[in-house]
Amino acid sequence: MCSTLTTRSGCITSAESVLITMQSHIQVLDFLAENATHEPTSQKRKIPIVSIAPQSLASLAAAVSSSSTTPVTPRQILHRTEAFFNQVLDVNYVYDTTFARHLSLLEHTREFWERKTQSANGVRGALPMLASACPGWICYAEKTHSEMLPFISRTKSPQQVMGTIVKSWLGSKWNIKWLLTFFHQTCTESVNSPDKIYHVTVMPCYDKKLEASRQDFYNDVFATREVDCVITTGELELLMREKSWDISVPVVNELVPTPPRTPPPGASGTDLGTTLPQMISHPGTSSGSYLHTIIEAVRARHRLDGSPDLELSTKTLRSADYEEYTLTDKETGKVVFKGAKCYGFRNLQNIVRRVGKEAGVQTGKGAAGRLAGSRARVVKKTATGGGDVTLDYVEVMACPGGCINGGGQLKRREPTKVDPGQKDSEGYQRDWTEAGVDLGSGPGARWGDKEWTKEVERVYWMERDPDDPTHAGVDVFAVNMLHEICRSDAVPGLSWSESMDEKAEAQRRALFRTEYRAVESEVDGLFVKW
Ligand code: SF4
Repeated sequence: MCSTLTTRSGCITSAESVLITMQSHIQVLDFLAENATHEPTSQKRKIPIVSIAPQSLASLAAAVSSSSTTPVTPRQILHRTEAFFNQVLDVNYVYDTTFARHLSLLEHTREFWERKTQSANGVRGALPMLASACPGWICYAEKTHSEMLPFISRTKSPQQVMGTIVKSWLGSKWNIKWLLTFFHQTCTESVNSPDKIYHVTVMPCYDKKLEASRQDFYNDVFATREVDCVITTGELELLMREKSWDISVPVVNELVPTPPRTPPPGASGTDLGTTLPQMISHPGTSSGSYLHTIIEAVRARHRLDGSPDLELSTKTLRSADYEEYTLTDKETGKVVFKGAKCYGFRNLQNIVRRVGKEAGVQTGKGAAGRLAGSRARVVKKTATGGGDVTLDYVEVMACPGGCINGGGQLKRREPTKVDPGQKDSEGYQRDWTEAGVDLGSGPGARWGDKEWTKEVERVYWMERDPDDPTHAGVDVFAVNMLHEICRSDAVPGLSWSESMDEKAEAQRRALFRTEYRAVESEVDGLFVKW
């Protein structure tokens, strides 16, 4: 049983448990073995693609570095992982998901401005916008706090945006031939066929397996998912060990960007786009930098008006897992933006109560979308406009410490004695076994090792300059991709925020956004009392 779900959302159902166990490194190996029995040009042969999250790369890099005299970076781990899949499993396409995250952040920011306008026009449930990248949080909200659903961003997570890139963009780039059969008539037209690609992601938690299994990410026409199989960082490491691949051994050219890959057999497009921007850095948090991206967008828009830069102040409450960020106009003292970073279920429950109070929404199980009375957003401001103001945005993550501490990450390598009554990362004393959490039997199997989380965090930022992201070229690539994927007739503009024609905008919503719904859990209440 996965520890992330049982401890974080506390409400995994038996159906979800099946969905999780259906996705493992064994399934990947079985697929690859079966795929290899088909001729390369056969209709049955699929193109395997692997995408790996930056938090997984950091976890592997920290683990390797801990038993090496030379530090190993996430970029080196990416190249060693590429070499493993290429040389051992004959998988030629391995990408990191930072470019997908970049697109997710662009769309997320666009949605924030849409919601800001809606809120100014009196639309309820538009603000605060709550981040949507954590399936642990989404699962919890859908089952336990469905009144929060209107506030949750509709933008897809980086994993699912990567699914869009791989299945909808790369598939059409490669112009994979497919015979379309309707009503017993065979059409020989060449179309994008996403089911000809098998997409595996490597993620820091088990919850991502559930995310990939959501109905919204299933293509009925082609009977395929954006992500076919999710394995955790730990499962990738296990896969490597089972195949006798030593990730601590350097590979050729591991310090330089990956050169363009050879297109797959049968690919007939002109610009084959087999290389995506690699290891893109975003200042902020190691869980995706959602809040900091919004803060920068607010500041940039303010500067566009010719106004002096906004002053950023931060406040840490209780721990680094709950921080508030305020942007204030220095001249008027007016608070222009207030956001929060909220990690871990204890803080998450507090934020649900706070958002409910500020927005006039009754919180609690079964209170699906009920608005208390006719109260609009409760805005309390001091005379200067500062002080007690409502939140505009919250970066919500279910794991204490964020994604770097996901339940699928590698644990510290030194053996650690597990005391069943020990306190968890959020300070609660618990009997782990009684709580249904499998602590594992491997060396050092222990959840919530704060020192280790700090080390993985340090490694995550190793090669990145958090203050100097150079995104100009990446943004041009992103906008070109957007126009291609949405089949826009317009000449690609300069920015992601510019609107395309109506049809292309509908395609953008279909490809980059999603929906949520209240779910009646078959599990009554939480396994774990928080
Ligand atoms: S915080 Fe990150 S690692 Fe943890 S459940 Fe959410 S997405 Fe997964």
